[in-house]
Amino acid sequence: MRLSRYFLPVLKENPADAQIASHRLMLRAGMIKQASAGIYSWLPLGFKVLRRIENIVHEEQIRAGHIPMLMPTLQSADLWRESGRYDDYGEEMLRIKDRHGRDMLYGPTNEELITDIFRSHVTSYKELPLTLYHIQWKFRDEIRPRFGVMRGREFLMKDGYNFDLDRESALHAYNRHMVSYLRTYERMGLKAIPMRADSGPIGGDDTHEFLVLADTGESEVFYDSAILDLSMDGRTVDYDNRAEIAALVQEWITPYARTDETHDEAEFARVPEERRRTSRAIEVGQIFYFGTKYSEPMGAYVVNEKGGRVPVHMGSHGIGVSRLVGAIIEASHDEKGIIWPEGVTPFHVGIVNLRQGDGECDAACEQLYGALAAAGLEPLYDDREERAGAKFATMDLIGLPWRITVGPRGLKSGVVELTNRRTGESEEMKPEDAVEKVKEIYRPHQEAGLIEPMKGRYFHTWL
Ligand code: ATP
Ligand code: MG
Repeated sequence: MRLSRYFLPVLKENPADAQIASHRLMLRAGMIKQASAGIYSWLPLGFKVLRRIENIVHEEQIRAGHIPMLMPTLQSADLWRESGRYDDYGEEMLRIKDRHGRDMLYGPTNEELITDIFRSHVTSYKELPLTLYHIQWKFRDEIRPRFGVMRGREFLMKDGYNFDLDRESALHAYNRHMVSYLRTYERMGLKAIPMRADSGPIGGDDTHEFLVLADTGESEVFYDSAILDLSMDGRTVDYDNRAEIAALVQEWITPYARTDETHDEAEFARVPEERRRTSRAIEVGQIFYFGTKYSEPMGAYVVNEKGGRVPVHMGSHGIGVSRLVGAIIEASHDEKGIIWPEGVTPFHVGIVNLRQGDGECDAACEQLYGALAAAGLEPLYDDREERAGAKFATMDLIGLPWRITVGPRGLKSGVVELTNRRTGESEEMKPEDAVEKVKEIYRPHQEAGLIEPMKGRYFHTWL
């Protein structure tokens, strides 16, 4: 993309109403614009990051054997009366009447809708196990929407639902979700810690939240610092191998890690003192096993091997897709702006032309642009007639992890400059070496994508 042809409405001033870094930076970098309280338009740069995050979520869910679909945002109140949640849910639910006077609602979550789909089509144990998921907008009329996309009223969520014959296989589904979530967050450059949590209105006993440590987080958490050393990095997992998946989960849930709702001082005191930590944190996902809580009242039964009719065991599993954009920024920024992890960056590399209109500089930039694009990467070329300082400030603000600077002085000795946004370190090298180095940096991210012939273009595959 050439910046002169893009829509990147950056703000010079800090917006007065934004209290935390991610909200401030998303507004300043022209990623979002508030439409009304807790409801946002996603401008091109923000939309690109949102799509990158969605892609990673899709890829890791599909890898785990879960099946994508799409349910509507508007739901009929009748289904929610069947589960008993229409009255329970309270004021957070946006209730709407259609022209015929029928009660509708904007879905805050989808247990009822998916259970209805399931009971309409599945009657035998032979069709199990089954996990369906979608990425769809939700609405919760939060009493205090704030912090931009972190606590919106309309927000994008991945929600998945497993249907299993018995508790044991439903717990395998629970474990699969935990492992796939850990992989998902790691690909986004995040350390998200699974913590035993409280089930709230979804109900059920087994539940973990995934939390990203950040001073601005709304949750209070207590954990053993040993958990910070764990990583899924480079491990191949066989999602059909119950023992292997269970062992991985065990490894992650062994160190003490809890939110304030389930925190137990006596147990925490058994963690060696030098490893005891408390912090603020952002909830970026949650998984639940709730057994037959919805299948029984809503009649989601299957015939088992012995010919008996049994309610299916279910769980639901959510990732806060739009909240993640803010969470990643909270975890990765400095005083100049955002610092995107390579896995989610909207553009892979910025090209800054220090003397726009100079024949040699323009030609070198065009060449770089073409070579990077040919490698399946998306460069953002700042081809505006602007001062160098302004170009650098924009690049720093929008946070592309790598920048190639092209200027007349360097070109005289045949070099451009490759700069790392995080460390600020710059290296001079031949343009073709800069391209090679950037290709090398992104290769693991391209290879982590599932759709092989689309290498590097995985961004487009879900659009
Ligand atoms: P919270 O405790 O933050 O209100 P929740 O526990 O009610 O969230 P879940 O039902 O577990 O939310 O939804 C799954 C995920 O959706 C959450 O982990 C969070 O990342 C995201 N999410 C929930 N509410 C919002 C919101 N108002 N704005 C943005 N993301 C949200
Ligand atoms: Mg939650």
